[in-house]
Amino acid sequence: MPQHDVLVIGAGLAGQRAALAAAETGASVGVISKVHPVRSHSNAAAGGINAALDPEDSWESHAFDTVKGSDYLGDQDAIEVMCREAPDEVLRLEHLGVTFHRSDEGKLGTRAFGGASAARTYYVADITGQALLHVLYEQLMKHDEVTRYEEWFTTALARDDSGRLAGAVTRNIRDGSLELFTAKAVILATGGNGQIFNPTTNALICTGDGIAMAYRAGAPLMDMEMVQYHPTTLAGIGLLITEGARGEGAHLLNAEGERFMENYAPNKMELASRDVVSRAEQTEINEGRGFPDGTVALDITVVPRHRILQSLREIVNVGRDFAGVDITSEPIHIKPGNHYVMGGIKTDIDGQTDVPGLYAAGECACVSVHGGNRLGANSLLDTLIFGRRSGVHAAQMGRGMAQPTPAGSELAREREAIQSIISRDRSGRRLSEIKAEMGKVMDEQVSVFRDEERLRGALEVVKRLQEEVKTVAVDDKGSVFNQDVLGALELQFMLDNAECIVMGAIERKESRGAQFRTDFPERNDDEWLKHINLTADGDIPAVSYSDVTMTQWEPEERTY
Ligand SMILES: Cc1cc2nc3c(=O)[nH]c(=O)nc-3n(C[C@H](O)[C@H](O)[C@H](O)COP(=O)(O)OP(=O)(O)OC[C@H]3O[C@@H](n4cnc5c(N)ncnc54)[C@H](O)[C@@H]3O)c2cc1C
Repeated sequence: MPQHDVLVIGAGLAGQRAALAAAETGASVGVISKVHPVRSHSNAAAGGINAALDPEDSWESHAFDTVKGSDYLGDQDAIEVMCREAPDEVLRLEHLGVTFHRSDEGKLGTRAFGGASAARTYYVADITGQALLHVLYEQLMKHDEVTRYEEWFTTALARDDSGRLAGAVTRNIRDGSLELFTAKAVILATGGNGQIFNPTTNALICTGDGIAMAYRAGAPLMDMEMVQYHPTTLAGIGLLITEGARGEGAHLLNAEGERFMENYAPNKMELASRDVVSRAEQTEINEGRGFPDGTVALDITVVPRHRILQSLREIVNVGRDFAGVDITSEPIHIKPGNHYVMGGIKTDIDGQTDVPGLYAAGECACVSVHGGNRLGANSLLDTLIFGRRSGVHAAQMGRGMAQPTPAGSELAREREAIQSIISRDRSGRRLSEIKAEMGKVMDEQVSVFRDEERLRGALEVVKRLQEEVKTVAVDDKGSVFNQDVLGALELQFMLDNAECIVMGAIERKESRGAQFRTDFPERNDDEWLKHINLTADGDIPAVSYSDVTMTQWEPEERTY
Protein backbone atom coordinates (compact mmCIF):
# COMPACT_ATOMS: atom_id res chain seq x y z
CA MET A 1 0.00 0.00 0.00
CA PRO A 2 1.81 3.23 -1.13
CA GLN A 3 1.86 5.83 1.67
CA HIS A 4 2.59 9.57 1.53
CA ASP A 5 2.05 12.68 3.60
CA VAL A 6 0.51 14.42 0.60
CA LEU A 7 -0.98 12.70 -2.42
CA VAL A 8 -1.41 14.90 -5.50
CA ILE A 9 -3.74 13.55 -8.18
CA GLY A 10 -2.90 15.22 -11.47
CA ALA A 11 0.46 16.42 -12.80
CA GLY A 12 -0.42 19.42 -14.92
CA LEU A 13 0.72 22.84 -13.75
CA ALA A 14 -1.49 22.85 -10.65
CA GLY A 15 -0.44 19.36 -9.54
CA GLN A 16 3.27 19.84 -10.21
CA ARG A 17 3.30 23.22 -8.49
CA ALA A 18 1.48 21.73 -5.48
CA ALA A 19 3.89 18.79 -5.33
CA LEU A 20 6.93 21.04 -5.51
CA ALA A 21 5.63 23.33 -2.76
CA ALA A 22 4.78 20.39 -0.48
CA ALA A 23 8.16 18.72 -1.14
CA GLU A 24 10.00 21.94 -0.28
CA THR A 25 8.55 21.69 3.26
CA GLY A 26 10.07 18.20 3.57
CA ALA A 27 6.79 16.27 3.20
CA SER A 28 6.73 12.96 1.37
CA VAL A 29 4.70 13.49 -1.80
CA GLY A 30 3.14 11.10 -4.31
CA VAL A 31 2.08 12.51 -7.69
CA ILE A 32 -0.31 10.47 -9.78
CA SER A 33 -1.04 11.13 -13.45
CA LYS A 34 -3.02 9.13 -15.98
CA VAL A 35 -0.63 10.30 -18.71
CA HIS A 36 3.04 11.21 -18.65
CA PRO A 37 3.06 14.53 -16.72
CA VAL A 38 4.32 16.69 -19.57
CA ARG A 39 1.42 15.46 -21.72
CA SER A 40 -1.11 17.09 -19.36
CA HIS A 41 -3.40 19.63 -21.01
CA SER A 42 -1.40 22.50 -19.46
CA ASN A 43 1.11 21.65 -22.15
CA ALA A 44 -1.29 23.04 -24.78
CA ALA A 45 -1.62 26.50 -23.18
CA ALA A 46 -0.45 28.94 -25.75
CA GLY A 47 -1.06 32.61 -25.09
CA GLY A 48 0.55 33.33 -21.75
CA ILE A 49 0.22 34.14 -18.06
CA ASN A 50 -0.91 37.38 -16.42
CA ALA A 51 0.95 39.38 -13.78
CA ALA A 52 1.09 43.08 -12.97
CA LEU A 53 4.90 43.25 -12.98
CA ASP A 54 5.41 46.54 -14.75
CA PRO A 55 5.90 49.50 -12.37
CA GLU A 56 3.21 51.37 -14.33
CA ASP A 57 0.76 48.53 -13.69
CA SER A 58 -0.70 47.46 -10.32
CA TRP A 59 -2.15 44.33 -8.75
CA GLU A 60 -5.29 46.36 -7.99
CA SER A 61 -5.80 47.04 -11.69
CA HIS A 62 -5.29 43.34 -12.49
CA ALA A 63 -7.74 42.44 -9.72
CA PHE A 64 -10.37 44.91 -10.90
CA ASP A 65 -10.13 43.60 -14.48
CA THR A 66 -10.57 40.07 -13.12
CA VAL A 67 -13.57 41.05 -10.97
CA LYS A 68 -15.20 42.81 -13.92
CA GLY A 69 -14.33 39.92 -16.24
CA SER A 70 -16.01 37.53 -13.78
CA ASP A 71 -19.19 39.64 -14.09
CA TYR A 72 -18.87 40.21 -10.32
CA LEU A 73 -19.31 36.53 -9.46
CA GLY A 74 -15.62 36.00 -8.56
CA ASP A 75 -14.73 36.10 -4.85
CA GLN A 76 -12.75 39.28 -4.41
CA ASP A 77 -10.61 38.05 -1.48
CA ALA A 78 -9.36 35.16 -3.64
CA ILE A 79 -8.83 37.43 -6.65
CA GLU A 80 -6.77 39.79 -4.49
CA VAL A 81 -4.55 36.91 -3.35
CA MET A 82 -4.02 35.73 -6.93
CA CYS A 83 -3.19 39.17 -8.34
CA ARG A 84 -0.96 40.22 -5.43
CA GLU A 85 1.09 37.03 -5.60
CA ALA A 86 1.30 36.92 -9.41
CA PRO A 87 4.48 38.99 -9.94
CA ASP A 88 6.60 36.94 -7.50
CA GLU A 89 5.33 33.68 -8.96
CA VAL A 90 6.16 34.67 -12.55
CA LEU A 91 9.63 35.84 -11.49
CA ARG A 92 10.16 32.61 -9.55
CA LEU A 93 9.34 30.57 -12.66
CA GLU A 94 11.65 32.77 -14.70
CA HIS A 95 14.47 32.15 -12.23
CA LEU A 96 13.80 28.41 -12.37
CA GLY A 97 14.40 28.56 -16.12
CA VAL A 98 11.28 29.56 -18.06
CA THR A 99 12.53 31.51 -21.08
CA PHE A 100 9.87 34.23 -21.19
CA HIS A 101 9.89 36.48 -24.23
CA ARG A 102 12.12 39.54 -23.86
CA SER A 103 11.86 42.90 -25.59
CA ASP A 104 14.68 44.40 -27.68
CA GLU A 105 15.98 46.12 -24.52
CA GLY A 106 16.21 42.71 -22.82
CA LYS A 107 13.24 43.32 -20.53
CA LEU A 108 10.45 40.78 -20.04
CA GLY A 109 8.02 41.55 -22.86
CA THR A 110 4.24 41.42 -22.66
CA ARG A 111 1.33 41.08 -25.05
CA ALA A 112 -2.20 42.45 -24.69
CA PHE A 113 -5.00 40.04 -23.75
CA GLY A 114 -8.78 40.23 -23.56
CA GLY A 115 -10.51 42.20 -20.81
CA ALA A 116 -7.22 43.61 -19.47
CA SER A 117 -6.61 47.34 -19.04
CA ALA A 118 -2.83 46.90 -19.46
CA ALA A 119 -0.62 44.55 -21.51
CA ARG A 120 0.35 42.19 -18.67
CA THR A 121 0.52 38.79 -20.33
CA TYR A 122 3.98 37.18 -20.18
CA TYR A 123 4.62 34.48 -22.74
CA VAL A 124 6.99 32.11 -24.49
CA ALA A 125 6.00 32.42 -28.19
CA ASP A 126 2.72 30.47 -28.29
CA ILE A 127 3.99 27.54 -26.21
CA THR A 128 3.81 29.15 -22.74
CA GLY A 129 2.20 26.14 -21.02
CA GLN A 130 4.79 23.76 -22.42
CA ALA A 131 7.64 25.98 -21.26
CA LEU A 132 6.24 26.21 -17.73
CA LEU A 133 5.38 22.52 -17.47
CA HIS A 134 8.79 21.27 -18.55
CA VAL A 135 10.61 23.54 -16.12
CA LEU A 136 8.43 22.38 -13.22
CA TYR A 137 8.95 18.75 -14.20
CA GLU A 138 12.72 19.22 -14.08
CA GLN A 139 12.36 20.67 -10.59
CA LEU A 140 10.23 17.76 -9.40
CA MET A 141 12.83 15.27 -10.60
CA LYS A 142 15.40 16.92 -8.33
CA HIS A 143 13.34 16.18 -5.21
CA ASP A 144 13.82 12.82 -3.47
CA GLU A 145 10.67 13.55 -1.44
CA VAL A 146 8.58 13.15 -4.60
CA THR A 147 7.51 9.80 -6.03
CA ARG A 148 5.90 10.02 -9.46
CA TYR A 149 3.23 7.50 -10.46
CA GLU A 150 3.11 8.07 -14.20
CA GLU A 151 0.33 6.36 -16.13
CA TRP A 152 -1.71 5.54 -13.05
CA PHE A 153 -5.44 6.25 -13.09
CA THR A 154 -7.33 7.19 -9.93
CA THR A 155 -10.86 5.80 -9.89
CA ALA A 156 -12.16 6.92 -6.46
CA LEU A 157 -11.27 8.76 -3.28
CA ALA A 158 -11.10 6.84 0.00
CA ARG A 159 -12.15 8.05 3.44
CA ASP A 160 -11.46 6.75 6.94
CA ASP A 161 -14.17 5.76 9.44
CA SER A 162 -14.61 9.36 10.58
CA GLY A 163 -15.31 10.54 7.01
CA ARG A 164 -11.94 12.23 6.63
CA LEU A 165 -10.11 11.87 3.31
CA ALA A 166 -7.49 9.17 3.71
CA GLY A 167 -6.33 8.21 0.22
CA ALA A 168 -7.37 7.11 -3.24
CA VAL A 169 -7.94 3.93 -5.22
CA THR A 170 -5.70 3.95 -8.28
CA ARG A 171 -5.16 1.59 -11.21
CA ASN A 172 -1.72 1.00 -12.66
CA ILE A 173 -2.50 1.40 -16.36
CA ARG A 174 0.49 -0.70 -17.36
CA ASP A 175 -0.68 -3.94 -15.74
CA GLY A 176 -4.20 -3.27 -14.51
CA SER A 177 -3.40 -3.75 -10.82
CA LEU A 178 -5.40 -1.72 -8.33
CA GLU A 179 -3.81 -0.07 -5.26
CA LEU A 180 -5.16 1.80 -2.26
CA PHE A 181 -2.89 4.82 -1.68
CA THR A 182 -3.01 6.39 1.77
CA ALA A 183 -2.20 10.01 2.59
CA LYS A 184 -2.80 12.61 5.28
CA ALA A 185 -4.04 14.99 2.61
CA VAL A 186 -5.13 14.53 -0.99
CA ILE A 187 -4.90 17.36 -3.53
CA LEU A 188 -7.03 16.99 -6.66
CA ALA A 189 -5.41 18.72 -9.64
CA THR A 190 -7.13 16.78 -12.39
CA GLY A 191 -7.93 19.64 -14.77
CA GLY A 192 -11.06 20.54 -16.73
CA ASN A 193 -13.93 18.69 -18.35
CA GLY A 194 -14.09 20.03 -21.92
CA GLN A 195 -14.56 16.56 -23.40
CA ILE A 196 -18.20 16.66 -22.27
CA PHE A 197 -18.71 19.01 -25.22
CA ASN A 198 -18.03 18.25 -28.85
CA PRO A 199 -16.10 19.96 -30.29
CA THR A 200 -13.76 21.35 -27.64
CA THR A 201 -10.27 22.85 -27.50
CA ASN A 202 -9.47 20.44 -24.67
CA ALA A 203 -7.33 17.31 -24.95
CA LEU A 204 -8.95 13.85 -24.85
CA ILE A 205 -7.83 13.46 -21.23
CA CYS A 206 -9.91 16.45 -19.97
CA THR A 207 -12.81 14.39 -18.68
CA GLY A 208 -13.57 15.99 -15.30
CA ASP A 209 -12.49 12.90 -13.30
CA GLY A 210 -11.50 14.79 -10.15
CA ILE A 211 -14.60 16.97 -10.19
CA ALA A 212 -16.77 13.85 -10.30
CA MET A 213 -14.72 11.99 -7.66
CA ALA A 214 -14.92 14.93 -5.24
CA TYR A 215 -18.65 15.24 -5.88
CA ARG A 216 -19.14 11.53 -5.19
CA ALA A 217 -17.11 11.93 -1.97
CA GLY A 218 -19.51 14.63 -0.76
CA ALA A 219 -17.64 17.84 -1.67
CA PRO A 220 -19.84 20.64 -3.07
CA LEU A 221 -19.27 21.84 -6.65
CA MET A 222 -19.65 25.58 -7.28
CA ASP A 223 -20.45 27.77 -10.35
CA MET A 224 -20.73 24.67 -12.56
CA GLU A 225 -23.04 26.46 -15.01
CA MET A 226 -20.17 28.77 -15.97
CA VAL A 227 -18.57 27.18 -19.03
CA GLN A 228 -16.38 29.28 -21.30
CA TYR A 229 -16.80 29.28 -25.06
CA HIS A 230 -13.59 30.66 -26.57
CA PRO A 231 -14.17 33.07 -29.47
CA THR A 232 -11.62 31.63 -31.87
CA THR A 233 -11.75 27.88 -32.48
CA LEU A 234 -11.83 25.93 -35.74
CA ALA A 235 -15.34 24.79 -36.71
CA GLY A 236 -15.97 21.04 -36.42
CA ILE A 237 -12.68 20.07 -34.76
CA GLY A 238 -12.50 22.74 -32.06
CA LEU A 239 -8.75 23.42 -32.29
CA LEU A 240 -7.79 26.67 -30.58
CA ILE A 241 -6.45 29.76 -32.30
CA THR A 242 -4.88 31.55 -29.33
CA GLU A 243 -6.25 34.86 -28.05
CA GLY A 244 -2.62 35.92 -28.52
CA ALA A 245 -3.57 36.49 -32.18
CA ARG A 246 -6.03 39.22 -31.20
CA GLY A 247 -3.53 40.37 -28.58
CA GLU A 248 -1.10 40.95 -31.44
CA GLY A 249 -3.79 42.96 -33.29
CA ALA A 250 -5.84 40.52 -35.41
CA HIS A 251 -9.35 41.62 -36.45
CA LEU A 252 -12.68 39.78 -36.47
CA LEU A 253 -14.71 40.18 -39.66
CA ASN A 254 -18.18 39.01 -40.66
CA ALA A 255 -18.96 37.70 -44.16
CA GLU A 256 -19.67 41.28 -45.25
CA GLY A 257 -16.11 42.24 -44.31
CA GLU A 258 -17.31 44.37 -41.37
CA ARG A 259 -15.28 44.62 -38.15
CA PHE A 260 -18.44 43.84 -36.21
CA MET A 261 -17.00 44.21 -32.69
CA GLU A 262 -17.54 47.97 -33.18
CA ASN A 263 -21.23 47.30 -32.55
CA TYR A 264 -20.70 45.26 -29.38
CA ALA A 265 -17.59 46.57 -27.59
CA PRO A 266 -16.52 49.87 -29.18
CA ASN A 267 -13.69 50.48 -26.71
CA LYS A 268 -12.01 47.10 -26.36
CA MET A 269 -13.16 45.73 -29.75
CA GLU A 270 -11.66 42.23 -30.29
CA LEU A 271 -10.10 42.35 -26.83
CA ALA A 272 -13.35 42.50 -24.85
CA SER A 273 -13.98 39.59 -22.45
CA ARG A 274 -14.35 36.19 -24.07
CA ASP A 275 -18.05 35.83 -23.17
CA VAL A 276 -18.78 39.17 -24.84
CA VAL A 277 -16.82 38.34 -28.02
CA SER A 278 -18.30 34.84 -28.30
CA ARG A 279 -21.85 36.19 -27.99
CA ALA A 280 -21.10 38.87 -30.60
CA GLU A 281 -19.80 36.27 -33.06
CA GLN A 282 -22.72 33.91 -32.44
CA THR A 283 -25.18 36.79 -32.95
CA GLU A 284 -23.55 37.65 -36.30
CA ILE A 285 -23.74 33.99 -37.32
CA ASN A 286 -27.35 33.54 -36.12
CA GLU A 287 -28.49 36.72 -37.86
CA GLY A 288 -27.08 35.62 -41.21
CA ARG A 289 -23.91 37.72 -41.40
CA GLY A 290 -21.57 34.75 -40.99
CA PHE A 291 -20.14 32.42 -43.63
CA PRO A 292 -22.14 29.41 -44.90
CA ASP A 293 -20.00 27.10 -42.73
CA GLY A 294 -21.38 28.81 -39.59
CA THR A 295 -18.28 30.89 -38.89
CA VAL A 296 -16.85 34.41 -38.97
CA ALA A 297 -13.28 35.29 -39.95
CA LEU A 298 -10.16 36.08 -37.95
CA ASP A 299 -7.84 38.28 -39.98
CA ILE A 300 -4.29 37.88 -38.69
CA THR A 301 -2.76 39.31 -41.88
CA VAL A 302 -2.88 42.78 -40.26
CA VAL A 303 -0.11 41.61 -37.88
CA PRO A 304 3.37 42.03 -39.41
CA ARG A 305 4.54 38.75 -40.94
CA HIS A 306 7.83 38.60 -39.00
CA ARG A 307 5.86 39.02 -35.76
CA ILE A 308 3.47 36.19 -36.67
CA LEU A 309 6.37 33.89 -37.44
CA GLN A 310 8.14 34.84 -34.23
CA SER A 311 5.33 34.80 -31.69
CA LEU A 312 2.39 32.90 -33.20
CA ARG A 313 4.29 30.10 -34.89
CA GLU A 314 2.14 27.24 -33.56
CA ILE A 315 -1.05 28.67 -35.02
CA VAL A 316 0.68 29.12 -38.37
CA ASN A 317 1.03 25.32 -38.28
CA VAL A 318 -2.53 24.78 -36.99
CA GLY A 319 -3.95 26.98 -39.78
CA ARG A 320 -1.95 25.19 -42.47
CA ASP A 321 -2.40 21.62 -41.23
CA PHE A 322 -6.01 21.70 -40.03
CA ALA A 323 -7.70 24.40 -42.13
CA GLY A 324 -5.47 24.58 -45.21
CA VAL A 325 -5.02 28.31 -44.60
CA ASP A 326 -1.81 30.36 -44.56
CA ILE A 327 -2.72 32.78 -41.76
CA THR A 328 0.04 35.19 -42.80
CA SER A 329 -1.75 35.88 -46.09
CA GLU A 330 -5.49 35.17 -45.66
CA PRO A 331 -8.19 35.26 -42.94
CA ILE A 332 -9.11 32.02 -41.20
CA HIS A 333 -12.69 30.95 -40.40
CA ILE A 334 -13.42 30.54 -36.68
CA LYS A 335 -16.35 30.25 -34.27
CA PRO A 336 -16.96 30.10 -30.52
CA GLY A 337 -16.07 26.67 -29.09
CA ASN A 338 -15.96 24.96 -25.70
CA HIS A 339 -12.75 25.81 -23.85
CA TYR A 340 -12.80 26.03 -20.06
CA VAL A 341 -14.90 25.41 -16.96
CA MET A 342 -14.96 28.28 -14.48
CA GLY A 343 -16.82 26.13 -11.94
CA GLY A 344 -15.50 23.11 -10.10
CA ILE A 345 -14.77 21.79 -6.62
CA LYS A 346 -15.49 24.56 -4.11
CA THR A 347 -12.35 25.53 -2.18
CA ASP A 348 -11.03 28.29 0.06
CA ILE A 349 -7.89 30.30 -0.75
CA ASP A 350 -5.68 27.47 0.57
CA GLY A 351 -7.33 24.86 -1.62
CA GLN A 352 -9.34 23.25 1.20
CA THR A 353 -12.66 21.74 0.19
CA ASP A 354 -15.57 21.08 2.56
CA VAL A 355 -14.36 17.48 3.08
CA PRO A 356 -11.59 17.35 5.73
CA GLY A 357 -8.25 16.33 4.21
CA LEU A 358 -9.37 16.97 0.62
CA TYR A 359 -7.88 19.84 -1.39
CA ALA A 360 -8.33 20.94 -4.99
CA ALA A 361 -6.36 23.30 -7.25
CA GLY A 362 -6.24 24.33 -10.90
CA GLU A 363 -9.04 23.99 -13.42
CA CYS A 364 -10.88 21.29 -11.41
CA ALA A 365 -11.22 23.72 -8.48
CA CYS A 366 -13.43 26.76 -8.01
CA VAL A 367 -11.84 29.21 -5.57
CA SER A 368 -13.66 31.26 -7.20
CA VAL A 369 -11.30 33.62 -9.05
CA HIS A 370 -13.00 33.41 -12.46
CA GLY A 371 -16.66 33.71 -11.45
CA GLY A 372 -18.84 33.95 -14.54
CA ASN A 373 -16.05 34.38 -17.07
CA ARG A 374 -12.29 33.77 -16.97
CA LEU A 375 -9.92 36.30 -18.48
CA GLY A 376 -7.41 34.84 -20.90
CA ALA A 377 -4.03 34.06 -19.28
CA ASN A 378 -5.53 34.02 -15.76
CA SER A 379 -5.82 30.24 -15.69
CA LEU A 380 -2.12 29.43 -15.82
CA LEU A 381 -1.77 31.94 -13.01
CA ASP A 382 -4.58 30.30 -11.02
CA THR A 383 -2.95 26.85 -11.36
CA LEU A 384 0.39 28.10 -10.03
CA ILE A 385 -0.83 30.34 -7.19
CA PHE A 386 -3.44 27.98 -5.78
CA GLY A 387 -1.39 24.88 -6.61
CA ARG A 388 1.43 26.28 -4.46
CA ARG A 389 -0.88 27.40 -1.66
CA SER A 390 -2.59 23.98 -1.54
CA GLY A 391 0.75 22.17 -1.45
CA VAL A 392 2.04 24.25 1.45
CA HIS A 393 -1.20 24.06 3.44
CA ALA A 394 -1.69 20.32 2.92
CA ALA A 395 1.89 19.57 4.01
CA GLN A 396 1.58 21.72 7.13
CA MET A 397 -1.80 20.30 8.02
CA GLY A 398 -0.45 16.75 7.93
CA ARG A 399 2.63 17.45 10.05
CA GLY A 400 2.59 15.38 13.24
CA MET A 401 -0.57 13.58 12.20
CA ALA A 402 -0.71 9.76 12.22
CA GLN A 403 -1.08 8.02 8.85
CA PRO A 404 -4.83 7.55 8.42
CA THR A 405 -6.47 4.21 7.66
CA PRO A 406 -8.96 4.18 4.80
CA ALA A 407 -12.15 2.31 5.56
CA GLY A 408 -11.08 -0.36 3.05
CA SER A 409 -14.41 -0.92 1.34
CA GLU A 410 -13.49 1.46 -1.53
CA LEU A 411 -10.82 -0.86 -2.91
CA ALA A 412 -13.17 -3.85 -3.05
CA ARG A 413 -15.98 -1.73 -4.52
CA GLU A 414 -13.76 -0.30 -7.28
CA ARG A 415 -12.31 -3.72 -8.10
CA GLU A 416 -15.80 -5.10 -8.49
CA ALA A 417 -16.98 -2.14 -10.59
CA ILE A 418 -14.06 -2.49 -13.01
CA GLN A 419 -14.43 -6.26 -13.20
CA SER A 420 -18.09 -5.90 -14.04
CA ILE A 421 -17.30 -3.52 -16.94
CA ILE A 422 -14.68 -5.91 -18.31
CA SER A 423 -16.74 -9.09 -17.97
CA ARG A 424 -20.01 -7.66 -19.33
CA ASP A 425 -21.19 -8.98 -22.70
CA ARG A 426 -22.07 -6.46 -25.35
CA SER A 427 -25.76 -5.66 -25.15
CA GLY A 428 -26.32 -1.92 -25.02
CA ARG A 429 -24.82 1.01 -26.91
CA ARG A 430 -21.15 1.61 -27.58
CA LEU A 431 -19.19 4.01 -25.39
CA SER A 432 -18.35 6.17 -28.39
CA GLU A 433 -22.03 6.57 -29.29
CA ILE A 434 -22.96 7.69 -25.80
CA LYS A 435 -20.05 10.13 -25.71
CA ALA A 436 -20.99 11.55 -29.10
CA GLU A 437 -24.62 12.07 -28.10
CA MET A 438 -23.55 13.82 -24.88
CA GLY A 439 -21.10 16.06 -26.75
CA LYS A 440 -23.68 17.04 -29.33
CA VAL A 441 -26.48 17.86 -26.91
CA MET A 442 -24.16 19.87 -24.67
CA ASP A 443 -22.80 21.87 -27.62
CA GLU A 444 -26.23 22.49 -29.12
CA GLN A 445 -28.24 23.16 -25.98
CA VAL A 446 -25.87 24.21 -23.19
CA SER A 447 -23.51 26.62 -24.96
CA VAL A 448 -23.41 30.35 -25.79
CA PHE A 449 -27.17 30.96 -25.67
CA ARG A 450 -29.36 28.92 -23.31
CA ASP A 451 -33.05 28.72 -22.36
CA GLU A 452 -35.13 26.66 -19.94
CA GLU A 453 -36.72 24.40 -22.54
CA ARG A 454 -33.48 23.37 -24.24
CA LEU A 455 -31.70 22.97 -20.89
CA ARG A 456 -34.46 20.66 -19.62
CA GLY A 457 -34.18 18.70 -22.87
CA ALA A 458 -30.42 18.35 -22.33
CA LEU A 459 -30.95 17.18 -18.74
CA GLU A 460 -33.31 14.48 -19.94
CA VAL A 461 -30.71 13.23 -22.43
CA VAL A 462 -27.96 13.23 -19.79
CA LYS A 463 -30.13 11.30 -17.32
CA ARG A 464 -30.91 8.70 -20.01
CA LEU A 465 -27.23 8.39 -20.93
CA GLN A 466 -26.37 7.87 -17.23
CA GLU A 467 -28.59 4.80 -17.33
CA GLU A 468 -27.27 3.57 -20.68
CA VAL A 469 -23.64 3.81 -19.53
CA LYS A 470 -24.37 1.27 -16.79
CA THR A 471 -24.75 -1.51 -19.35
CA VAL A 472 -21.95 -0.55 -21.70
CA ALA A 473 -19.47 -3.30 -22.54
CA VAL A 474 -15.85 -2.96 -23.68
CA ASP A 475 -14.01 -4.87 -26.42
CA ASP A 476 -10.64 -5.08 -24.66
CA LYS A 477 -10.85 -7.67 -21.86
CA GLY A 478 -7.14 -7.54 -21.03
CA SER A 479 -5.21 -5.95 -18.18
CA VAL A 480 -2.30 -4.29 -20.01
CA PHE A 481 -2.93 -0.69 -21.12
CA ASN A 482 -6.67 -1.29 -21.24
CA GLN A 483 -7.78 2.16 -22.45
CA ASP A 484 -11.27 0.83 -23.12
CA VAL A 485 -12.02 0.32 -19.46
CA LEU A 486 -10.60 3.74 -18.59
CA GLY A 487 -12.84 5.21 -21.29
CA ALA A 488 -15.87 3.68 -19.58
CA LEU A 489 -14.87 5.15 -16.21
CA GLU A 490 -14.19 8.55 -17.78
CA LEU A 491 -17.57 8.55 -19.48
CA GLN A 492 -19.28 8.03 -16.11
CA PHE A 493 -17.26 10.92 -14.66
CA MET A 494 -18.20 13.11 -17.64
CA LEU A 495 -21.90 12.40 -17.28
CA ASP A 496 -21.78 13.47 -13.60
CA ASN A 497 -20.09 16.70 -14.71
CA ALA A 498 -22.63 17.23 -17.49
CA GLU A 499 -25.55 16.78 -15.12
CA CYS A 500 -24.14 19.38 -12.72
CA ILE A 501 -23.48 21.89 -15.52
CA VAL A 502 -27.04 21.60 -16.81
CA MET A 503 -28.53 21.69 -13.30
CA GLY A 504 -26.61 24.87 -12.48
CA ALA A 505 -27.64 26.46 -15.78
CA ILE A 506 -31.32 25.66 -15.15
CA GLU A 507 -31.07 26.98 -11.60
CA ARG A 508 -29.49 30.36 -12.49
CA LYS A 509 -32.40 32.36 -13.85
CA GLU A 510 -30.45 35.33 -15.13
CA SER A 511 -27.67 36.20 -17.59
CA ARG A 512 -24.21 36.71 -16.15
CA GLY A 513 -20.77 36.04 -17.65
CA ALA A 514 -20.78 32.91 -19.78
CA GLN A 515 -24.35 32.02 -18.81
CA PHE A 516 -26.69 33.86 -21.20
CA ARG A 517 -30.34 32.89 -20.78
CA THR A 518 -32.46 34.16 -23.67
CA ASP A 519 -35.47 33.77 -21.35
CA PHE A 520 -33.77 35.89 -18.62
CA PRO A 521 -31.53 38.22 -20.65
CA GLU A 522 -30.57 40.62 -17.83
CA ARG A 523 -28.12 40.27 -14.97
CA ASN A 524 -30.14 40.27 -11.76
CA ASP A 525 -27.92 41.21 -8.81
CA ASP A 526 -30.85 41.37 -6.38
CA GLU A 527 -31.56 37.68 -6.68
CA TRP A 528 -28.54 36.04 -8.30
CA LEU A 529 -25.39 37.71 -7.04
CA LYS A 530 -24.56 34.41 -5.33
CA HIS A 531 -22.82 31.13 -6.03
CA ILE A 532 -24.80 27.99 -6.80
CA ASN A 533 -23.44 24.94 -4.96
CA LEU A 534 -24.34 21.38 -5.93
CA THR A 535 -23.91 18.39 -3.63
CA ALA A 536 -24.49 14.71 -4.45
CA ASP A 537 -27.82 13.66 -3.03
CA GLY A 538 -29.45 10.57 -4.49
CA ASP A 539 -30.81 10.93 -7.98
CA ILE A 540 -30.24 14.65 -8.55
CA PRO A 541 -27.80 17.12 -7.01
CA ALA A 542 -28.98 19.12 -4.00
CA VAL A 543 -28.82 22.89 -4.61
CA SER A 544 -27.62 25.45 -2.06
CA TYR A 545 -26.18 28.96 -2.31
CA SER A 546 -23.21 30.83 -0.90
CA ASP A 547 -22.37 34.52 -0.81
CA VAL A 548 -19.95 36.18 -3.19
CA THR A 549 -17.14 37.74 -1.15
CA MET A 550 -16.80 41.48 -1.86
CA THR A 551 -13.83 43.51 -0.71
CA GLN A 552 -13.54 46.79 -2.59
CA TRP A 553 -15.44 46.58 -5.87
CA GLU A 554 -19.21 47.10 -5.98
CA PRO A 555 -21.02 45.59 -8.98
CA GLU A 556 -21.35 47.99 -11.92
CA GLU A 557 -22.72 47.74 -15.41
CA ARG A 558 -20.21 45.81 -17.51
CA THR A 559 -19.23 47.36 -20.83
CA TYR A 560 -16.08 47.07 -22.92
C1 LIG B 1 -5.66 24.65 -26.00
C2 LIG B 1 -5.63 25.40 -24.70
C3 LIG B 1 -4.91 26.57 -24.58
C4 LIG B 1 -4.89 27.28 -23.38
N1 LIG B 1 -4.16 28.43 -23.28
C5 LIG B 1 -4.10 29.08 -22.10
C6 LIG B 1 -3.27 30.23 -21.93
O1 LIG B 1 -2.57 30.66 -22.85
N2 LIG B 1 -3.26 30.85 -20.74
C7 LIG B 1 -4.00 30.42 -19.68
O2 LIG B 1 -3.94 31.02 -18.62
N3 LIG B 1 -4.77 29.30 -19.80
C8 LIG B 1 -4.83 28.64 -20.97
N4 LIG B 1 -5.60 27.51 -21.08
C9 LIG B 1 -6.23 26.95 -19.87
C10 LIG B 1 -5.16 26.25 -19.02
O3 LIG B 1 -4.20 25.69 -19.86
C11 LIG B 1 -5.75 25.15 -18.16
O4 LIG B 1 -6.86 25.62 -17.45
C12 LIG B 1 -4.70 24.67 -17.15
O5 LIG B 1 -3.49 24.36 -17.79
C13 LIG B 1 -5.20 23.48 -16.36
O6 LIG B 1 -4.15 23.01 -15.58
P1 LIG B 1 -4.38 21.89 -14.48
O7 LIG B 1 -3.07 21.66 -13.84
O8 LIG B 1 -5.53 22.28 -13.63
O9 LIG B 1 -4.86 20.61 -15.30
P2 LIG B 1 -4.21 19.80 -16.53
O10 LIG B 1 -3.02 20.44 -17.09
O11 LIG B 1 -5.34 19.50 -17.44
O12 LIG B 1 -3.71 18.47 -15.84
C14 LIG B 1 -4.60 17.50 -15.33
C15 LIG B 1 -3.78 16.35 -14.77
O13 LIG B 1 -4.64 15.45 -14.09
C16 LIG B 1 -4.34 14.13 -14.46
N5 LIG B 1 -5.55 13.33 -14.28
C17 LIG B 1 -6.82 13.64 -14.65
N6 LIG B 1 -7.68 12.67 -14.28
C18 LIG B 1 -6.93 11.71 -13.65
C19 LIG B 1 -7.22 10.47 -13.03
N7 LIG B 1 -8.47 9.97 -13.01
N8 LIG B 1 -6.21 9.77 -12.51
C20 LIG B 1 -4.94 10.23 -12.55
N9 LIG B 1 -4.60 11.41 -13.12
C21 LIG B 1 -5.59 12.14 -13.65
C22 LIG B 1 -3.85 14.23 -15.88
O14 LIG B 1 -3.05 13.14 -16.23
C23 LIG B 1 -3.05 15.53 -15.82
O15 LIG B 1 -1.75 15.28 -15.35
C24 LIG B 1 -5.63 26.78 -22.27
C25 LIG B 1 -6.34 25.60 -22.38
C26 LIG B 1 -6.36 24.92 -23.59
C27 LIG B 1 -7.19 23.67 -23.67
